[in-house]
Amino acid sequence: MELPQVLGEPIRFILNWGRKYSLWVFNFGLACCAIEFIATSMGRHDFIRLGVIPFAHGPRQADLMVVSGTVTDKMAPAIKRLYDQMPEPKYVISFGACSNCGGPYWDSYSVTKGVDQLIPVDVYVPGCPPRPEALLHGIVKLQEKIAAEQSGFGGVRRKSAAELNAPLV
Ligand code: SF4
Repeated sequence: MELPQVLGEPIRFILNWGRKYSLWVFNFGLACCAIEFIATSMGRHDFIRLGVIPFAHGPRQADLMVVSGTVTDKMAPAIKRLYDQMPEPKYVISFGACSNCGGPYWDSYSVTKGVDQLIPVDVYVPGCPPRPEALLHGIVKLQEKIAAEQSGFGGVRRKSAAELNAPLV
């Protein structure tokens, strides 16, 4: 829903401010990078101070999906299905080389060469594995992106995985 022009900017600021500091996170941990994600959620790095809330009970309560680890072709339909179950507005961080592009398994017959072949990705965090500080940096980048969104009350309509024509078998 579009906001009236006169109210638009302050309300847009408030909506975006609320969204960027209440990111219920759904960890899609698939391999070693998931351990670094867990480390980021613990006391030493503590991503809660940035407004990331661990952990949504499932995709229907989540605003942010972090895909951390090796995406196999066999797992691809599950990622697509769970992403589609998340309500709008929703965000995705691809965490680590495997989910970014296949990583060390770039020539494997069974590995998807990037989770962005399945779902839209907002922020890519490089590394094998990335350190927790890299995930914190990725979260800050995502929050900058959310703060700049021109969304209305309904949030930003994102492409569904079906619209992306994901090459699933
Ligand atoms: Fe493991 Fe490296 Fe792949 Fe992360 S990027 S899941 S550390 S092999």
